[in-house]
Amino acid sequence: MDSIIPYGQQEVSDDDIDAVVNVLRSSCLTQGLVVPKFEHKVSEYVGSKYAVAVNSGTSALHIACHSLGLGKGDYLWTTPITFVASSNCALYCGAKVDFVDIDSNSWNMSVELLSEKLKKAKDNNMLPKVVVVVHLCGLSCEMEQIQNLAKKYKFYIIEDACHALGGKYQNQMIGNCRYSDITVFSFHPVKNITTGEGGMAVTNNRELFKHMCILRSHGITRDPSEMIQGSDYSRTYQQIDIGFNYRMTDIQAALGISQLVRLDGFIQKRHQIAKIYNKSLDRLFLKLPIYNNISHYSGLHLYVIRTKGLSVGHNKELFNILRSQGVGVNKHYIPVYRQPYYSKFGFKIDNFNNAELYYKEAITLPIFPSLTKNNIKYVVDIVNGYFQ
Ligand SMILES: *Cc1c(COP(=O)(O)O)cnc(C)c1O
Repeated sequence: MDSIIPYGQQEVSDDDIDAVVNVLRSSCLTQGLVVPKFEHKVSEYVGSKYAVAVNSGTSALHIACHSLGLGKGDYLWTTPITFVASSNCALYCGAKVDFVDIDSNSWNMSVELLSEKLKKAKDNNMLPKVVVVVHLCGLSCEMEQIQNLAKKYKFYIIEDACHALGGKYQNQMIGNCRYSDITVFSFHPVKNITTGEGGMAVTNNRELFKHMCILRSHGITRDPSEMIQGSDYSRTYQQIDIGFNYRMTDIQAALGISQLVRLDGFIQKRHQIAKIYNKSLDRLFLKLPIYNNISHYSGLHLYVIRTKGLSVGHNKELFNILRSQGVGVNKHYIPVYRQPYYSKFGFKIDNFNNAELYYKEAITLPIFPSLTKNNIKYVVDIVNGYFQ
């Protein structure tokens, strides 16, 4: 049976469509004024100094790693419970990946285990150059503590906030980079706002910003002050680094600007849905997500429940019942080290007890702004019915 209710879905309004059509009717489909305007709006919204729009969240992670100098012989550490892009960015740069197990309450990278692993890595001279922390489901990691470790052990921090646009940490917008070097967002259609495909890297560091701008577009600069050889009339641009074509189009940026206007409303709807779920699913065999407390206001990209204390067989049974009744449940995520491509790196599952347990227990239920009360009741009744 096809899914009747997907786990996530975009909201496209008539205003969004008009904004896109306006660009299509204009003379500039790409490299015009709309992308810089979108960058300005996002950096203003999250409270960062600079923003670099790109064609995906994955590209944003790649240029972020590259701009921090990640390369051969370096280590990047991240959480195993994430989308593969959070760790693939290390491999693109020729660096090695390692994982830090998750915290069993927040499901984000454990600060305690990070601290222990850093201590050991220091003794073995294998400290990471970059740590990518992922705000899973939209809930911020413990950034203040992580930054304290970064100061002590001298690594850079990238926040993978692909789930977290619109969320807050310590009452401030995720993306203000107060505790990190760079934060990245994705605008894939299932994320909190969409540009079709698209992403953005934000930072407060001018050098990183300028480097990422160049990396986004072939390693080319048009700014005479950045040119390595003298500029003259015959050379309006110079390639000063090896970059990529990761540019966002003005068509996409127009959609993004139009969507951004409704972002806070989208997040409020997501919170209303999570509140109903958490109230209706409060049972012995379920562990429900944290999405709102004193220091955390989740972007709530995903709503994940855990079937605590049930066998894998029962988790699978509930998952399949939901699927067979038209609920597009999912597993976010299979631990990255379990992916076939990663088998050659020889990670041992015994090193990731919390991630392994999470993987056995997690089920992603549908959450998106237009999910109706009836939809929610339909999902809740199936889950509760299973435990009757
Ligand atoms: C979606 C996502 C990405 C990648 O974003 P794309 O825009 O799809 O390239 C990276 N990390 C996480 C955690 C994501 O959910």
